[in-house]
Amino acid sequence: MDKKIENYLENLLPASPDSAKALEKYAEINHVPIIHRNSMHMINLILTMKQPQAILEVGTAIGYSALRMLEGAQDAKITTIEKDETRYLEAVTNIQEQKRNSQIEVILGDAADVMQNLAEKKKQFDVIFIDAAKGQYQSYFDLADRILISGGILITDNVLFRGMVYSDEETPKKYKTLVRKLKAYNEMLMNHPDYHTSIIPIDDGVSISYKR
Ligand code: SAM
Repeated sequence: MDKKIENYLENLLPASPDSAKALEKYAEINHVPIIHRNSMHMINLILTMKQPQAILEVGTAIGYSALRMLEGAQDAKITTIEKDETRYLEAVTNIQEQKRNSQIEVILGDAADVMQNLAEKKKQFDVIFIDAAKGQYQSYFDLADRILISGGILITDNVLFRGMVYSDEETPKKYKTLVRKLKAYNEMLMNHPDYHTSIIPIDDGVSISYKR
């Protein structure tokens, strides 16, 4: 992505709330991957327009994006899945500190297992945000499709993965499989008859899909 545009847009953003700034700082110091601020801002624009009741997040980390999604969707209930126990516990603590535990439920477990379970329980979500293992996006999509309402929105982060998904340069060997999977994912989403998708080239690439 063009750094100049990124910086320009980032400088135009309103400041994050103090509680979010503290998590941004913590994530930076401790190398926890959290969503970029421009992408977060766009997601909150979508949530403000959509006003969803039920949101599913796949990949909690320390709870940063789950907490911030409540800025756009004040009345939503958020279910968020994290498989790493340390991060799960950090997320639970952060959510409790911000007194949002009645709105955000963190589930410890592998995303595919938990989503399968939600599907079996016939749970339904208005918005699903996929932000976990990038190599698993196709399986997450297949499960998400079962629990996303018609008229719902699917958001996927990192779909342009460091620019490697569209670069002419040879992909470093260790990322070849991942990049191939992400390319296939993007093509699948863009051609899916039940979804209207746009890929937004900000930060690491975010796709927004409307389910017909
Ligand atoms: N959405 C978070 C935010 O913006 O604040 C960031 C999530 S981070 C990019 C991805 C998280 O997904 C990591 O904390 C990782 O442990 C978790 N993760 C990876 N694979 C997973 C899986 N199979 N099931 C559940 N969580 C997983």
